[in-house]
Amino acid sequence: MNFEKGLRTMRLAGKVALVTGASRGIGRAVAERFASEGAVVVLNFASNEAAAREVLAGIESAGGKGVLSPFDVGDAPRVDAAVQAVISEQGRIDVLVNNAGVTRDNLLMRLSEEDFDTVVRTNLKGTFLVTKAVSRQMIRQRGGRIVNISSVVGEMGNAGQSAYAASKAGILGFTKSLARELASRGITVNAIAPGFITTDMTGKLTEEVRKGFMEQIPLGRFGTPGDVAELAVYLASEGASYVTGQVIGINGGLYM
Ligand code: NAP
Repeated sequence: MNFEKGLRTMRLAGKVALVTGASRGIGRAVAERFASEGAVVVLNFASNEAAAREVLAGIESAGGKGVLSPFDVGDAPRVDAAVQAVISEQGRIDVLVNNAGVTRDNLLMRLSEEDFDTVVRTNLKGTFLVTKAVSRQMIRQRGGRIVNISSVVGEMGNAGQSAYAASKAGILGFTKSLARELASRGITVNAIAPGFITTDMTGKLTEEVRKGFMEQIPLGRFGTPGDVAELAVYLASEGASYVTGQVIGINGGLYM
């Protein structure tokens, strides 16, 4: 074994990875880590083009490769067209990270139907639409890695987040079912369930809610997008070829 050579090997060299919601937060960190491991990263976002361009510029200036792919994950025709464009430009898709997500937090009595629909459309239907479009190609390739970003809230619930929790719990059932459907095609499907990660999304929470979470986290800190990105690299890598249908928590011990 040549340790020196091993250290220099990039874990995603030659892979094409589509990361949804890559303009900010966790998706951004995943895209940056994937690029640093040699993947060509397709950076999806909804509307924040300036932020996505900044992520791409950072990747390119570090010697990595990426392209932008703006589309709404909840819009079926746009998803199909964008995935087709990636396949014709890049020739393949090896890794999909379904990360795009939104919150519309409210207690049930104040939660509108519109907000419920928005959350489920982006988080759950979006995951379904992008996975369906990409897995067609992965089946042709006889291999691939799908990583769905769920949430600890989908596992343990959270007052004021019933729509979000339902969408994230839905992702867990979707992940396990697809892992069974796609295993014979060489495709693994896993979910990451992050706890409290410092991003724009959690920046919206009140100080009181943050304090309440912090008291319940055995490791005594919130996570970083980089913590989640490390796990995503592992699940996308060759080393994880025998891992499928799993929900892996990354939450500082908040939920065990
Ligand atoms: P964030 O900072 O708010 O970023 C959300 C990303 O999703 C942005 O890139 C946004 O694009 C994109 N997006 C939103 N709606 C979209 C749509 N319809 N189509 C395509 N892209 C869309 O969120 P985050 O905290 O990084 O969260 C990322 C994922 O992790 C989400 O699924 C979230 O539920 C999950 N998660 C987060 C935490 C946490 O503590 N932060 C914990 C557990 C799970 P634009 O920039 O264009 O708006």
